[in-house]
Amino acid sequence: MRTEALMGAKSGREFLQRLDSTPREIWYGDEKITGSVSQHPAFGGVAKSIAALYDMQLKPELTDVMTYESPTTHDPVGTSFLQPRTREDLAKRTAMMKAWADFSGGMMGRTADYLNSSIMAMAAAKEFFGKGERDFASNVSKYYEYVRENDLILTHTLINPQTNRGVGPSKQADPFIAARVADKTPDGVVIRGARMLATLPIADEIMVFPSTVIRSGQDDVPYSIAFAVPVSARGLKFICRESFSEGESTFDHPLASRFDEQDAVVVFDDVVVPWDRVFILEDPDRANRVNDATGAIVFMAHQATVREAAKAEFMAGLMTMVAETIGADAFPQVQERITNVLLSAETMKAFLRSSEAGAKTNQWGLMTPDYAPLNSARNIWPRLAPDFAAVIKQTGASGLMAIPPEGILGSGARPDLDRYFQAKMADGEERVRLFKMAWDASGSSFGGRQDLYERFFFGDPVRMASAYYSWYDKEPYKQRVKELLHRGD
Ligand SMILES: Cc1cc2nc3c(=O)[nH]c(=O)nc-3n(C[C@H](O)[C@H](O)[C@H](O)COP(=O)(O)OP(=O)(O)OC[C@H]3O[C@@H](n4cnc5c(N)ncnc54)[C@H](O)[C@@H]3O)c2cc1C
Repeated sequence: MRTEALMGAKSGREFLQRLDSTPREIWYGDEKITGSVSQHPAFGGVAKSIAALYDMQLKPELTDVMTYESPTTHDPVGTSFLQPRTREDLAKRTAMMKAWADFSGGMMGRTADYLNSSIMAMAAAKEFFGKGERDFASNVSKYYEYVRENDLILTHTLINPQTNRGVGPSKQADPFIAARVADKTPDGVVIRGARMLATLPIADEIMVFPSTVIRSGQDDVPYSIAFAVPVSARGLKFICRESFSEGESTFDHPLASRFDEQDAVVVFDDVVVPWDRVFILEDPDRANRVNDATGAIVFMAHQATVREAAKAEFMAGLMTMVAETIGADAFPQVQERITNVLLSAETMKAFLRSSEAGAKTNQWGLMTPDYAPLNSARNIWPRLAPDFAAVIKQTGASGLMAIPPEGILGSGARPDLDRYFQAKMADGEERVRLFKMAWDASGSSFGGRQDLYERFFFGDPVRMASAYYSWYDKEPYKQRVKELLHRGD
């Protein structure tokens, strides 16, 4: 049995200790949170959930799936860091990611495997970053190893503040609103400005990378950067939205109280990024190509598709239970709506399987899923997922408002709850419990944020669709039309 002091896959306790002992600047309204983050009501629930994910890695029955042997220390390290060389490696990655996604019913989008997948792929493609005076290639591979061996969790931010989308960052009234290079010193690169959005400000480190969709031009040189710093970096601030966790009652807010990851605007107040943490510097061409050329986009899309399949399955289960509980499952329109969600689950799984069946070794030596199904999954998901909340609302109807706070269970009105809240397939308490979960998944502030997240987390769906249109090789299809147009009778 390994001791916690070893490098490699960490326990939940180790994560929580790290979280509480790492100084950081998180703004929650007028409150400046600098320590003991896991004790804060806005973060405690999700911190506990992340700790539980870490603990899964160390469960004897799961370690084979959740960890592999570090190539440097031979200690077990998290499977999402595994650089897949074979189809078996790829299958192991999928199994690990699915186990984590199922833990939250796919409600946590930013479990560590998302960005671990990205940095894993970039490290394999380290030559892409260049070996000039600063040897960015070696910076990337050392950073990957550092994150892997310490089992860190990353947040990231790709997008400039939403000031004026009609022009790029250099054309804003204040060219220092978007985070950019302000200076270069012997200690590192000084970054000034802001980025949005960073989900999970309780991470250990933040990666700043170019968007997977938006392209930079020569005007954008000072903004064309990629780097990573610890959340404790001097001058780094996270400005959080209101918490949607709604307190600690898992009865009242079964999803929000556990899985509200938080989102923050990130301010870089002259943050010094040490030279060994700089990956791309004032280089629009590399910034534009990094996600595609390194394969990072494929592995992030792979993780996202696993989670999306898990979420579609969970939502289908949830709405089936809602329908069955009140005896609405026999109505054909209810069946049709739930069938649509089942079809979404099968669609995502089909994309996933197809991507894995078509996996090939990429130019950097990684067994890489076929991007065509994953890019399709990435584009179709924002069209499918928003329907889930609608189906829950159409099915649960007024029952979604028959959800008194937990205190009712011990109140004088309990006999009324037992009598009037019972349903065909559940007693009063169980029905309220289920319908609270259904509301949390579809209509609470947490549910609303889930809807927004699924629409946007992987980029603006409009520009993703344009990018898909340009990327897709439509020529063979056109050829068939041309051939038929001019076929002699
Ligand atoms: C809940 C949530 C969590 C997120 N977490 C993260 C995170 O952890 N890390 C991270 O980096 N990002 C995160 N994001 C941000 C995400 O990457 C962006 O939402 C996404 O890239 C779209 O950018 P935007 O939100 O700035 O929208 P905008 O670009 O401001 O778009 C606003 C509207 O204008 C339209 N529009 C804007 N520009 C154009 C254009 N040039 N052509 C056509 N239409 C245009 C869009 O279609 C949209 O309708 C998160 C987003 C959400 C909602």
